[in-house]
Amino acid sequence: MAEWSPNSWTKKPIKQDVIYEDADGVQAALTKLQKLPPLVTPKEVMNLRRYLRNVALGKAFLLQGGDCAELFDYCDQEMIEAKVKLLLQMSLVLIWGANKPVVRIARIAGQFAKPRSSPTEVVNGVEMPSFRGDNINGFAATPESRRPDPSRLVSAYFHSAATLNYLRAALSSGIADLHSPLDWGLGHVITPAIKENYERIVNRVQDALRFMHTVGIDTDRGVETVEVFTSHEGLSLEYEQSLTRLLRHPAVPTAAAGSSSSTTPKEGYYATSGHFLWIGDRTRQLDGAHVEFFRGITNPIGIKVGPSMTADELVRILDVVNPAREIGKVTLISRYGAAKIAQHLPAHIAAVQGSGHIPVWQCDPMHGNTQSTPTGVKTRHFSDILSELKQALEIHRAAGSFLGGMHLELTGEAVTECVGGAGGLTEDGLGERYTTFCDPRLNEKQALELAFLVAGFYRE
Ligand code: PEP
Ligand code: MN
Repeated sequence: MAEWSPNSWTKKPIKQDVIYEDADGVQAALTKLQKLPPLVTPKEVMNLRRYLRNVALGKAFLLQGGDCAELFDYCDQEMIEAKVKLLLQMSLVLIWGANKPVVRIARIAGQFAKPRSSPTEVVNGVEMPSFRGDNINGFAATPESRRPDPSRLVSAYFHSAATLNYLRAALSSGIADLHSPLDWGLGHVITPAIKENYERIVNRVQDALRFMHTVGIDTDRGVETVEVFTSHEGLSLEYEQSLTRLLRHPAVPTAAAGSSSSTTPKEGYYATSGHFLWIGDRTRQLDGAHVEFFRGITNPIGIKVGPSMTADELVRILDVVNPAREIGKVTLISRYGAAKIAQHLPAHIAAVQGSGHIPVWQCDPMHGNTQSTPTGVKTRHFSDILSELKQALEIHRAAGSFLGGMHLELTGEAVTECVGGAGGLTEDGLGERYTTFCDPRLNEKQALELAFLVAGFYRE
C-alpha cells in the first residue's frame, strides 16, 4: 500500500470539501494549529483502545452520546455538566442492566463539523450556503456568515480545549463520584417511574459501597471518578491533519509486554484533536480522502455503516483501515433505520465474521430514523429508536455476535426534538423547545428512559 502521511489524503478525491476563498487565511490557521499542544495524549488514546478491545470481546459496553452539532456557545459550565451527568446516569443504569463495565465516549469538545446533504438551503425563502458547523461557517442566515472562515478552525481548537479542560477538572473534582449519584440531579421533568427506578439502582450501589467499606475494602479510592473520552466526526481533514502528531507510544503494561518485540514501532501518528474519531456515512468511500487519512492514525476509529454499504465494501474498508486486525481498533456504527436493519445487518455481520476482523459493533439508532413532520420539522420517534436498538441486539444474538454499544444524539437540556417516550411528547409539542442546529436529540428524560429499556433487554 502507498506510503501514508498526515496529508496524503490531499491526493485523493474528497466529499464534503470546503472551498475557502482566503488561501492565506487557511495557511495562517493551519500553521497556528500545528504549533498548539495536543488536546489528548497517547496514553489516554491507548487506554481507550484497550477498553474498546474489551467491548469488541463482549466484556464491556460502549455508551457514546452527545449533540449532533456542537456549537461554540455550548462551551458553558452548565451545559457541559448536564451532558456529563446524563452520560454518567445512563452508564450507571447500563452497568446494572448489562452487568458489564461501561466505556463512556462523549460527542463533545470538537463535534463541530457537519456533513450536509445539500450545499445550499433555503432560509426564509432565500437560498444560501448550508450551515456546515461552527468550525466552518456561522449559523446566522446571511451570505456573509455562511462564507467558510478559516479562523474558525483555530476557534474550534480553543473551544475544544476549554470544554475538555472543564470536563477534566470536573471529573478530577468528583463530579462522577459513585458515593453521590443522587446529586447528579434528575431533571425536573423526569417521570416518577423513571425516578423511582433510578433511585432503586443508586440505593443498590450505595449498599454495595457500604458492604465493601464494612469488609475493609477501601471505597474512598477508585470509585470517586471515571474516565470520559471525547469524540467527533473527523470531517475537516485540514483541521485533523494539523493536530496529527508523530508521538511516542506509551509504555506497554508489563502483562502485555511479552507481545512487543524490537520490531514494534516506538512511535506512531496520533490525531490529537480527540480520543476517538469517526468517518461519517457520506465520506466513507474506499478510495476517498477520509479513509486515506483514517488509515494512518493510531486512535481507535469509528465507521458509520448505512444501508448503502455493501458487505464486500465493508470488509475492504476494514482491511484498509485496520490491516493488522487489531481487535476493537474499529467500531462499526450501524445506522440503517428501524425499517431497514433486518434487511442489512445480518449480511454485514456475516461478512465481517468471515473476514476475521473483530470490531466493536455499535448501533446508532438515530440517523436512519430521521423524518419530517407534515409541517417540515425534522424529528425522530422514540419507538423507532428503541426498535432499531432492540432489533440490533436480537440480530447480533442470533448471529453469534453481540451488540457492543449504542451511539446516541442527546442533550442534558429539556429540549423537545424527538417524539414519544414516557413523557408522551407529540409532534404538536415539538415547537416548545426545539433548539438543535442540526439533527433532533433525545432530551434528558428520553435518554435515561432509553438506558433503562436497553438495560432491561439485557436482563430479560
Ligand atoms: C452524525 O453522526 O451526526 C451524522 C451526520 O451521521 P451519519 O454520518 O451516520 O449520517
Ligand atoms: Mn446527526
